Amino acid sequence: MADEPLVLGIETSCDETGVGIVRGHTLLADAIASSVDEHARYGGVVPEVASRAHLEAMVPTIQRALKQAGVSARDLDGIAVTAGPGLAGALLVGVSAAKAYAYALGKPLYGVNHLASHICVDQLEHGALPEPTMALLVSGGHSSLLLAPDITGDVRPLGATIDDAAGEAFDKVARVLGLGFPGGPAIDRHAREGDPAAIAFPRGLTGGRDARYDFSFSGLKTAVARWVESRRREGREVPIADVAASFQEAVVDVLTRKAIRACRDNGVDHLMIGGGVAANSRLRSLAQERCDDAGILLRVPRPGLCTDNGAMVAALGAEMVARGRPASTLDLPADSSLPVTEVSVPGHTHEEPSPKGGSAGGGSARGGQAGGAHGPDSAHGNDHAHDHAHSHAHDHDHIRRQTTSIS
Ligand code: ADP
Ligand code: MG
Repeated sequence: MADEPLVLGIETSCDETGVGIVRGHTLLADAIASSVDEHARYGGVVPEVASRAHLEAMVPTIQRALKQAGVSARDLDGIAVTAGPGLAGALLVGVSAAKAYAYALGKPLYGVNHLASHICVDQLEHGALPEPTMALLVSGGHSSLLLAPDITGDVRPLGATIDDAAGEAFDKVARVLGLGFPGGPAIDRHAREGDPAAIAFPRGLTGGRDARYDFSFSGLKTAVARWVESRRREGREVPIADVAASFQEAVVDVLTRKAIRACRDNGVDHLMIGGGVAANSRLRSLAQERCDDAGILLRVPRPGLCTDNGAMVAALGAEMVARGRPASTLDLPADSSLPVTEVSVPGHTHEEPSPKGGSAGGGSARGGQAGGAHGPDSAHGNDHAHDHAHSHAHDHDHIRRQTTSIS
């Protein structure tokens, strides 16, 4: 429909420079430039290298997306950008570019949360998200179960990993097996030739008294490393396919079991899976099997929309515009540890609407007024948010492995 919002989205939280353009729920362009090859020899993403690559790729990728979509920047109804979480320097490049375009074009700016975008992207594939949406978000930096009554403003964490993220475990195990970088796709590939029941690796946090919705993958990672080491010590060959398949099975068994439990407990009949690990073929097939058995409808975007991209940011931006959510002010900060509960970031000069109903949007782009759901300090909010933030910042502050390119 022509009256649906036309939004450009910019994603630079890690090593993918993504620019997407959507009209409502329709994907018009998905341009990506990845610096993954530049990081490969370090075995993980080097923040400074990523930032510089974003800087070089930013404008050409925006131009490529506009061309692909066949639209003019003047026709846009808004510019959305990942404001966090992610690598600080990398985020800054995207946020600065988004501000420049929003200011120059006189368009409203929407600083949004990377994690909510990973969920919202499914609207481009399967139409409007049900409300509430139950989402399993699994990537290199996160493993969370989220209940989202409103993807533009109300996302509630039910559980998360207490140590490594699922993608991180894939990447580390791949390293132990000498499968190179990035690890997830390589394990997925090798596992297809292996026996998932060959080795009984542990299922973390699945005991009767363990947290119902939390995950733990660090023990599994260590168990795999020990098993491989002991084989090598004995001078025996390491059956890579069997190790990959058995490890992968342990991860996806727990992820799907807990996700379905969360749906059942909360009376939700849909499950959405997003994030880079949602590209995993075994996760997709086991989730489908178990959802079918439980009478739950599964929604997983195609693999190219699961890994980081700009279309997901545009999708969330378009939903914000469609729902009349307030835009961000032009002093929007990049927040490397933005908690998942902060779906959008209002900007520094944003003021809480007064009881009389006034709101101030000083510094805002034309058409981008501030006001609404977020308090001025909330982006740096509560303790829980802080914990979550911490683990993410930790993940990204260290050199870590990253994903496939989907260009
Ligand atoms: P980020 O964590 O920065 O948000 P992504 O959402 O793109 O990045 O997720 C990247 C992670 O997804 C990496 O850990 C990568 O190994 C993992 N991944 C990508 N494809 C697969 C796959 N087929 N199987 C398992 N993991 C995968
Ligand atoms: Mg991601």
